[in-house]
Amino acid sequence: MFYELPIIVIHGGAGNWKKRDHEKALSELTKSLDRGYEALIKYGPAEAVVEAIAYMEDSGLFDAGKGSVKNSAGEVEMDAGIMDGLTMKAGAIAASRCKNPIREAYNVMKNSPHVLIANVCRESTVIPTTGFGGDTVGAVAVDKSGHIVAGTSTGGIENKSPGRIGDSPIPGAGYYATERVGTSSTGIGEIIMVNLPGKEVDTLIGMGYSLQDSITAVTNKISNRFGRDNFGIIGITSRGEAFSSYNTISMARGVRNKDFSKVAIFDGVVP
Ligand code: ASP
Repeated sequence: MFYELPIIVIHGGAGNWKKRDHEKALSELTKSLDRGYEALIKYGPAEAVVEAIAYMEDSGLFDAGKGSVKNSAGEVEMDAGIMDGLTMKAGAIAASRCKNPIREAYNVMKNSPHVLIANVCRESTVIPTTGFGGDTVGAVAVDKSGHIVAGTSTGGIENKSPGRIGDSPIPGAGYYATERVGTSSTGIGEIIMVNLPGKEVDTLIGMGYSLQDSITAVTNKISNRFGRDNFGIIGITSRGEAFSSYNTISMARGVRNKDFSKVAIFDGVVP
């Protein structure tokens, strides 16, 4: 579906939301969209992605920031990444314990010559966690001129080995942005990292396919090879086509522009 720019889309992870508090999740998604959209209008797409994701990191309802799941040693280790489609600069942190991993990733993108840094925080705070165990969060925003930024933040997979890093801080895997399209992925990192869905969607868009066809093709390819229950993705193009797809029971997600704000967890076209 095409939307008027500027626009932001977000997700709160693909997985089984059946067991969780839907009303609360939908309300947190709406607030994250509002926070992101306000930053999009005031500052730009990078700030929109950072603010929308930081809101979900602070919520405690998702597997990111405050709500991150624990590894097998009972500790939190979070990954996050962000990428600017115009500059093609990315910034990411991995296996970290910062309060807001997405803000640290943004700092790497803006101020570091590197893309991915493990185990560092500007503020050396270990975050208190609720260990709620929701799902990974992500956002993609596009301004009026078609400038795209995408990002993702996660506590990873419950009971993972200490030091395990997933797809979320890897460009082309957990998130990706070019002049054409931006995406944020969620699901089993070990599957996402060897499929590079963000990179594949960009390649298909470059060949002239629609976002809906590209995202559907990539999701089907993963399901056909690895089975279901392992993947979800949201995306927007520079022309305002937005689409999401998942092979799990559900995926918390939302879309917002000037005159449209919609959130969902189960079936339905959002975005
Ligand atoms: N993709 C994340 C990871 O493997 C987890 C998730 O999306 O739920 O770290």
